[in-house]
Amino acid sequence: MVQSLLVDDSGAVNGVRVKDDHGIKEMTAKSVVLACGGFEANPQWRAQYLGRPWDHAKVRGTRYNQGDGLRMALDIGAMAYGNWSSCHSTPICAEWDDYAPRKLTDKSNRLSYPWGVMLNLKGNRFVDEGADFQFFTYALYGRVILDQPNSKVWQIFDQKAVDLLEPRYSTSDPITGDTLEELIGKLDIEDKARALATLQEFNAAAHDAEKFDPTELDGLATSGIAPKKSNWALKLDAPPFLAYSATGGITFTFGGLRINDKAQVIGVDWRPIKGLYCAGEMVGGIFHGNYPGGTGLVSGAVFGRIAGRSAASGVN
Ligand SMILES: Cc1cc2nc3c(=O)[nH]c(=O)nc-3n(C[C@H](O)[C@H](O)[C@H](O)COP(=O)(O)OP(=O)(O)OC[C@H]3O[C@@H](n4cnc5c(N)ncnc54)[C@H](O)[C@@H]3O)c2cc1C
Repeated sequence: MVQSLLVDDSGAVNGVRVKDDHGIKEMTAKSVVLACGGFEANPQWRAQYLGRPWDHAKVRGTRYNQGDGLRMALDIGAMAYGNWSSCHSTPICAEWDDYAPRKLTDKSNRLSYPWGVMLNLKGNRFVDEGADFQFFTYALYGRVILDQPNSKVWQIFDQKAVDLLEPRYSTSDPITGDTLEELIGKLDIEDKARALATLQEFNAAAHDAEKFDPTELDGLATSGIAPKKSNWALKLDAPPFLAYSATGGITFTFGGLRINDKAQVIGVDWRPIKGLYCAGEMVGGIFHGNYPGGTGLVSGAVFGRIAGRSAASGVN
């Protein structure tokens, strides 16, 4: 594990200090590429930069992205850049540990909410489940769910939705009920009467299945309830009913370092720090507030290649 950067008398980075099973040692190099992720696994930094309730968010990825790379670069005068108060977050299974099981990290997602209804522990709906397809809303709804009481919600489906659920739902067992009353009775919702009323009000405002089309924004919207469900608003009327838990899981943080087009890290004096390059989540200024699907790995590949080339050819 890298603990800190080595800097020579000219101010150039020329190695790292590492800790392993045998102790602490120094490794020298012509240059260093930092690509050790954001601070998503560090509850103190999450509280500090993202605010409450991010300190208790479950982590979707590695437990090792503690912000070390950011800290060691800032320690030698690197410039912070980008959206330090925001992150990528998605609805994930609430039963999983603080860190998703390593072999199942990407299976923690619970993104099929457009085909059902979400209730918080007060028994209320709190978001438009059908505002758009899941890949346009999931990175925002993680934080909306985290903000609910106890940061936990229930996703409710009926049999019409079962074939539409993402395969990832098979990594947990739903709670089931032959009636909505029976289902609500089995959930840890504080106000069960309110929850049942919410589902009944939803059903009164929703539609039968004839014009339902999961392949497009079908415009089947509720009327007269808040929040509205803008598309795919089918009545929950095909038992047995299913409930899957969800919380907001953090994927990665958006705040990072300022770099130039050669992936050199820029210092607070606005000059490149010699010998120091950066890629991946550590690059600041890429994402702000939201995130288009698939771009995390693209960003890592693009800046990783640039950083590697610059480091190998000694761009300073
Ligand atoms: C569950 C999940 C699903 C995702 N799905 C997608 C997707 O479908 N498409 C997409 O584009 N993106 C996806 N992403 C985002 C994408 O994985 C990240 O944006 C990308 O991996 C970031 O690359 P990185 O190299 O910056 O960091 P990482 O891949 O996180 O690698 C950082 C590495 O640095 C190591 N490290 C940390 N600190 C130290 C230290 N002090 N010393 C030594 N090593 C250290 C860590 O152990 C880790 O191995 C997903 C992320 C997660 C968590």
